[in-house]
Amino acid sequence: MSLPADVAVSLIGVAKSYGDVEVLQPFDLQIAEGEFVVLLGPSGCGKSTILKMIAGLEEVSDGEIHVAGELVNYVRPRDRNVAMVFQNYALYPHMTVRQNIAFPLRMARRPRLRRPDIDERTAEAAEIVELTDYLERKPAQLSGGQRQRVALARAIVRQPAAFLMDEPLSNLDALLRADMRTSLLDVHSRISKTTLYVTHDQVEAMTMADRVVVVNEGRIQQVGKPRELYTAPANTFVAQFIGSPRMSLHKTTVRGDCTLPFGGASLVTGADIRLEPGVSVTVGARPSAFRVTDATHACFAGRVGRRDYLGSDSYLEVELEDGPQVIVRAEADSPLGSGDLVHVVAESGAFHVFDESGARICRASVRSREQ
Ligand code: ADP
Ligand code: MG
Repeated sequence: MSLPADVAVSLIGVAKSYGDVEVLQPFDLQIAEGEFVVLLGPSGCGKSTILKMIAGLEEVSDGEIHVAGELVNYVRPRDRNVAMVFQNYALYPHMTVRQNIAFPLRMARRPRLRRPDIDERTAEAAEIVELTDYLERKPAQLSGGQRQRVALARAIVRQPAAFLMDEPLSNLDALLRADMRTSLLDVHSRISKTTLYVTHDQVEAMTMADRVVVVNEGRIQQVGKPRELYTAPANTFVAQFIGSPRMSLHKTTVRGDCTLPFGGASLVTGADIRLEPGVSVTVGARPSAFRVTDATHACFAGRVGRRDYLGSDSYLEVELEDGPQVIVRAEADSPLGSGDLVHVVAESGAFHVFDESGARICRASVRSREQ
């Protein structure tokens, strides 16, 4: 099978089972040259397995993997043109930073490199990750972030077709993680190396990725740009996995006039969508689509339950008429609290409508308040 020249990594019909247990359903995924793609999903969904199959650390049960145009299914891990960066750094404690970075080049057999070339490439990689001043230190004399940069330099030095990164920042504390996100992106913008990056952290995925691949229970749920996942989630899983606080979801049934009853109001879809009367659907809206208002002719009325203060905003849990609970963003210094009666407006197109299988159908807006 021939592939476009700008595809760096291609998975075609790849699947994985351990014995009778299917951990990855057959899927296709193409990663373009220079692209930063993030695999995002909860623990155990199969992210690491995808990376390991590309690296050759696990065999595929089915399908083909191509790296830089070469079918690599039968190529040994060390001969695949990819470099893996792990979360536990895997540095050699007795070696200096320089020796750690140079190690893959000293071990390389095809082609065998001369000492001056090794030194030059080591210095270049150290420069890219800003470790030039630390080359003579041992790993124990470095901070967590610096160690992670050594691990990254050790991948860079090999000049692979792609980097494979498995939760590389999850051992770092929150502040350092944010710094390292920036420096990883910095490195990426300097060397534009194709990267497949695994995380369970949606913030990491949303801030770093050109495209995100959302995985759940061994199935790819959606592939898209961060903004697409947020504004047009393919299904209820993606809708709730992306965005914080979570989108709340509620079941409702399409009325005879094709509107949707929700919290004492009627929701309508665009004219191009016709929902079948009597069909049950799930409706959801993000907290950022709601606003508390003084106007008594607002879309909804409800009672405040819990309130979460997050510094820049507060989030109110509001129980609407007829029962649905929604999360509403409010000012940080809003005086509202548990038990207060509030009026809430929803922006146009605030609601997403999902079918019974959870697949997204369309957006909906509030039409009118019921009498
Ligand atoms: P993630 O990286 O998304 O947390 P993994 O790819 O590590 O998930 O694992 C996916 C699934 O495959 C999990 O349910 C895990 O228990 C299972 N699994 C991983 N490795 C093995 C193995 N060697 N034998 C059997 N099951 C495995
Ligand atoms: Mg994993």
